[in-house]
Amino acid sequence: MAEPTPVQLDELVKTAVAIRERAYAPFSHFYVGAAILDDQGRVFAGVNVENSSYGLTICAERTAAGAAITAGAKEFVAVAVATPGAAAPCGACRQFLYELGPQCAVLLVDSDSGKVVRTAPLDEFLPNGFRLGR
Ligand SMILES: [Zn+2]
Repeated sequence: MAEPTPVQLDELVKTAVAIRERAYAPFSHFYVGAAILDDQGRVFAGVNVENSSYGLTICAERTAAGAAITAGAKEFVAVAVATPGAAAPCGACRQFLYELGPQCAVLLVDSDSGKVVRTAPLDEFLPNGFRLGR
């Protein structure tokens, strides 16, 4: 797996923080921005998208992953998630990201300060994640 540079990680964090303003969160008012760095050095952003039918809500990490995969990404190297208080990805997102980045770096960012509060490989958040045939 390609090792992200400090410059790439800085861009990733800034993207996750900046994209938060596009979150569609009229129900929870919990605005989340995510940015994924792939092994080609490309950055893909996502926000949480809520819905009147609450169960259809999509997290920022999964919208970013969808954008990345749509653009042809094959491997996730790092993901930054920006929320108030630097919340960790939910269980569903951990599994979703695991598919293309079981050891990608997860950066938890406090959106108020813009600072990274914790960085750890995804497999620390999701030990023994599930992948078919790999
Ligand atoms: Zn989630």
